[in-house]
Amino acid sequence: MINPFKLLGISDDVVNAVKDLGFENPTPIQEQAIPVLLEGNNDFVGLAQTGTGKTAAFGLPLIELIDFSSKKPQALILCPTRELCLQIASDIKNYSKNTPGASVVAVYGGANIMQQLREIRNGVQVVVATPGRMLDIIGRKAIDFSSVKYVVLDEADEMLNMGFQDDINDILSTTPDDKKTWLFSATMPPEVRRIAKNYMDNPTELTMGTKNTGNVNIEHEYYVVRARDKYAALKRIVDFNPEIFAVVFCKTKLDTQDVAENLIKDGYNADALHGDLSQQQRDKVMQRFRDRNMQLLIATDVAARGIDVNNVTHVVNYSLPDEIESYTHRSGRTGRAGKTGISICIINSKELGKIRQIERIIGKSFTKAELPTGFDVCEKQLFSLVHKVHNVEVNESQIDQYIPRIMDEFAELSKEDVIKRFASLEFNRFLEYYKNAPDLNAAALDERGERGERGARGARNSDYTRLFINLGSVDEFTRGDLLSFVCNNGKISGKNIGKIDLKGVYSFFEVENASVDTLFANFNDIQFNNRGVRIEKSGDAPEGGGSRGGERRPYSGGGERKSYGGGERKSYGGGDRRSSGGGGRREGASAGGGFRDFSGKPREGGNAGGSGRRESSGSGDRRRRS
Ligand code: AMP
Repeated sequence: MINPFKLLGISDDVVNAVKDLGFENPTPIQEQAIPVLLEGNNDFVGLAQTGTGKTAAFGLPLIELIDFSSKKPQALILCPTRELCLQIASDIKNYSKNTPGASVVAVYGGANIMQQLREIRNGVQVVVATPGRMLDIIGRKAIDFSSVKYVVLDEADEMLNMGFQDDINDILSTTPDDKKTWLFSATMPPEVRRIAKNYMDNPTELTMGTKNTGNVNIEHEYYVVRARDKYAALKRIVDFNPEIFAVVFCKTKLDTQDVAENLIKDGYNADALHGDLSQQQRDKVMQRFRDRNMQLLIATDVAARGIDVNNVTHVVNYSLPDEIESYTHRSGRTGRAGKTGISICIINSKELGKIRQIERIIGKSFTKAELPTGFDVCEKQLFSLVHKVHNVEVNESQIDQYIPRIMDEFAELSKEDVIKRFASLEFNRFLEYYKNAPDLNAAALDERGERGERGARGARNSDYTRLFINLGSVDEFTRGDLLSFVCNNGKISGKNIGKIDLKGVYSFFEVENASVDTLFANFNDIQFNNRGVRIEKSGDAPEGGGSRGGERRPYSGGGERKSYGGGERKSYGGGDRRSSGGGGRREGASAGGGFRDFSGKPREGGNAGGSGRRESSGSGDRRRRS
């Protein structure tokens, strides 16, 4: 079968090089742009995100068009950041590794200029540069652009956002008039349009995806919280996504530093990236992130520009960007190279208008998501742990010698008991941490001035009490099963039951206030599959439901046998309590404990506090949405 890159017109040397990089098929942008650019006689405007394979889309044709027998610069690629500059240079070196005589230089600030000048003097055909340093070198008359045939303006909108307009003008004025200009931009604000108009002659325009539309692989979500709960909300999102590998954006360097420091104190694997760090410090942080030795990169917009790290699962907008256009760049850090990603905004209710503005600009709607409850997090972490235990690689030769002693230790216990104990080892710590965890979702007014769903439901169901039961979908219950189980055992009618909220290891259901006592009176010593079934009043009881805000009194319908998952759950204390009755315990710095580092090694003992969470490998991502 003919290699698909070859079919696009790429030569064998380059095809072999990209094969080595694992590129089997061109990405859509490559498929569209490569044949056009290979013609070499047109200006070009490509509306495309990073992460779509854009670098190869222009890099491969450039290599085909350059005369590598000459040592003069023939291609100049301008990009906004040092990060991106290094990335593009490295990519082009990789694509041209089998091309005799090919030489690429990266020209960027914050590094030794002498070395860059030396490389230029030795002769290069491709110059990849950030505008400031490029001008510096031009000012020193250290480069001759008279043979430049192609100029690529990559992330043009970002370069303009960063104020490089004049620098770009000055640089372009040193290149020949008949060069071809290829412009790539994620968005097309009027300033970029103006560049296209001023510098280009009837350019071929390609739009990869819809105009101004963010990457199609990215889902956009927002959470509405009170301003003071933002940090707790961030932690809860992270705890609910054990496999998260995220860039968290803050507006200021100070916020970035604060959030990172707090996360580190609380036992998370995080670090800050901002402009007050030295270049060396920034490189170190980025390397750790790239190597996945860090899970949460807390960054400012400027510092994070051009970050090209694959497999980022989430982008979190801890604060919304001032410039709405920046949202596209932020979210573009995830959903790269065909992967899916989630871009999350943690906002207060006053910022809903800004979400709508972003929606208009990116042409996509946000989903209003609800922060998971303490119960949800515990459940998620439990199953994450279960999956991890299930999938762990056993080192037979090492563990074998201990097996007899281990078996001895567990001799008295049934298989079920052993499993329960292993699961509880970590699970209990989450339970402890999340007991009394308040609801962090602000009952936001939407733009029409309507209360959020929960407020409405509370008002509607004031005649009902919300109850917890330690049975759920893992017991293969449907809502109907749960309804008949409760009615049969509690001797009440189905008409007295309201909404049933079926979860995994537990569920919630509403019972008419008038029937609650009957239910509890009859619901005694009930077993399911040999385990005790408990019902309790949920701290989330709707208005008038009786237990609101107070301590939940556990009702044990099943006596002493503790249930799976909730086995040692002494008091959930309103893990799902949506309205904490005020003054609820906030998740504070005491969270602490046992967060494994992202390389997968558990950090034993964790940090001070010891009650906290432990991250473990993931079960599916079940996010709650309203
Ligand atoms: P870019 O948009 O150029 O930043 O590319 C995003 C990521 O996709 C980079 O890690 C590239 O190595 C990768 N990539 C680019 N083209 C392909 C391809 N045809 N097949 C697989 N991966 C690719």
